[in-house]
Amino acid sequence: MNKKKIKISLLIVINISTIVILFFLGIRVFHTFKYSNDSYYEPFKENQQKSNVKNEEESKSENDDNKTYTTIIDHTRKYTNQNIINKQWVIDFIKKESIEQENNCNNNLKDIEEEISDFTKIYGINFCELSRENAENIKESLKYVYTNYPWIQDYVTNITLVNDGGENSYIAAFQPSFTYMTSNTNNKFPFVIKIQVFLNAAYYLNDNYFGLVIKNASKSNHFPTSTTKESLVVHEFGHVITYILAINYYNSNNTLLVNQNDFSKYANTLKNYTNQVFAKQIIDEAYQNYIKEYQEESEENFRKNISGYANSFDNNGNVLYNETIAESFHDYYLHKNSAKLESISVINVLNKYIEEINR
Ligand SMILES: [Zn+2]
Repeated sequence: MNKKKIKISLLIVINISTIVILFFLGIRVFHTFKYSNDSYYEPFKENQQKSNVKNEEESKSENDDNKTYTTIIDHTRKYTNQNIINKQWVIDFIKKESIEQENNCNNNLKDIEEEISDFTKIYGINFCELSRENAENIKESLKYVYTNYPWIQDYVTNITLVNDGGENSYIAAFQPSFTYMTSNTNNKFPFVIKIQVFLNAAYYLNDNYFGLVIKNASKSNHFPTSTTKESLVVHEFGHVITYILAINYYNSNNTLLVNQNDFSKYANTLKNYTNQVFAKQIIDEAYQNYIKEYQEESEENFRKNISGYANSFDNNGNVLYNETIAESFHDYYLHKNSAKLESISVINVLNKYIEEINR
């Protein structure tokens, strides 16, 4: 083989691997999007439920109806072909972008955002137009999460208001993988993955409407009783904790900077998390423990007794076990030892996995 041929075949190899990687990056984005859709809170699946809220709303002030509840924060920004130096450089980049996005917020929440950043190590916190009361309440719920689960520090990169489909879309969402930045290297490695928690501006900025949505969803057992605007954020951290446990279980690394060597483990973790394999394993174990310890019950009723939303399905009719876990976590946050026995069974299994992490 002459030199020229070798070069060409090498080039082909590089090109193919680049295409494979880009394909995987594409899959990531797709998975993320699909996952996010599946994992959203969908407070109203039926129009009828929606019209109930509208009726109740009629007795309230009509002024709010003309307002649009949107944020100036853009959670979709991406950066390609960057000269990525190291992890600290990436963290500083995310922090800088977050601060820059808040330049036009005209808000008085800087102190709250900085306090949250101190105890969570979340790099970008963009509450922008949120009311001070809501921001304070979310801070307190995050204190619960990060005090009881301090090892989750340094994973979630952003918590932010988003515009994403208005009030027909989710209330809050967890995005385990957002390809934020790619390198200027031939193979695009390393790339930067953001782990984000979203608060939909259509709800979090529309206090009265959001209050009614929660009241109805809580009354109908779609959400656990006593659900609040900030407890819904705790639900999202049920997803965060599950994902970090999956990272540990599948021997992956903290995923902020993904190098070529880390890629297959990272992809494997994300796959098993996203397609509910890891969550199903946890729920199966919790269910078995529950029927041994308490009483016979179908697995469906086990989920339903946690909340209506804990018994969610994707568009193909597959159970969303990640929602069962997140709702158990949510129920336990709200009711502690008075939570449903089903929820407590799930928490006990989570704790078993958490012990592994802290070992
Ligand atoms: Zn969820």
